[in-house]
Amino acid sequence: MTDDPGVSGATPAGRFAPSPSGPLHVGNLRTAVLAWLFARTGGRRFLLRMEDLDRTAVGADAGQMADLHALGLDWEPPVRYQTDRLPRYRQIIDGLNDAGRTFECFCTRREILDAPSAPHTPPGAYPGTCRTLTAQQRAEKRATGRPPAIRILADRTEFTVHDVLHGSYTGAVDDFVIQRGDGTPAYNLAVVVDDAEQGIDQVCRGDDLLTSAPRQAYLATLLGHTPPTYAHVPMVLNPEHVRLSKRDGAITLADLAALGIGPGTVLDHIAVSLRLAAPGEHVDIDTLASRFDPAELPRTPWIVSDDEWP
Ligand code: GLU
Repeated sequence: MTDDPGVSGATPAGRFAPSPSGPLHVGNLRTAVLAWLFARTGGRRFLLRMEDLDRTAVGADAGQMADLHALGLDWEPPVRYQTDRLPRYRQIIDGLNDAGRTFECFCTRREILDAPSAPHTPPGAYPGTCRTLTAQQRAEKRATGRPPAIRILADRTEFTVHDVLHGSYTGAVDDFVIQRGDGTPAYNLAVVVDDAEQGIDQVCRGDDLLTSAPRQAYLATLLGHTPPTYAHVPMVLNPEHVRLSKRDGAITLADLAALGIGPGTVLDHIAVSLRLAAPGEHVDIDTLASRFDPAELPRTPWIVSDDEWP
């Protein structure tokens, strides 16, 4: 693709990769600020990627971009949409199939949960049920009409990644899904292909995805890429230590604007939570960049309650 800045040889990049399923909340916005800070202060390009293979809401992408701009974030165009990349994911999946690195899986979620886990597989990992089906068994399963998912035939059970905040992190690798039963490429496949092909050498995102990183980095190596380094940053939680949701009241820029709290004030609060500003101080994104030091970042979640806002 000639309009794509993510070609090899270009300056390495960081990225923010939201799912355009609705407005970003202050937790997503804080992660975006961190992703921008990591990229820009590390001399990287900063890219925005819409991960729209799953549930999307009409106009959510434009709303998210407007909110990111309102905080002062910028990125190199074009914004990539994963739904524009389906032929490329298809090619990669076909390549893995042809190389014998995959197998068809007919299991339902229930069957996976109920299956006894094999001695060599980590807890919660795919138990290997369909790994060794004969051609005849596969044909019988297909004849039932249930379309198979495609899983990676993993040749290891763990992989180690490097994370700026978590150090050397070793986590489980199993026969994870790369194409869902409905034919859609899985998130774990698309994210790896895109990060590699967009020249992303550092991935900053919420630490809910830390345990996915070993699988993704392993897949990157299978595809011949050097895995990125990671910066999995603490989440934003409500006072019950649960991820923010609509029930928590004003959590999006629109909710807060309705209370008279503008994006500048939201950025100030995010900055205080990152120890990059003093309470009451007004900052902009460039000031934060001049103060940013990954070693000084808080390692625990930011707890946000209604009292947060003036
Ligand atoms: N699209 C994912 C999300 O919004 C993020 C994936 C990633 O950063 O790797 O949770």
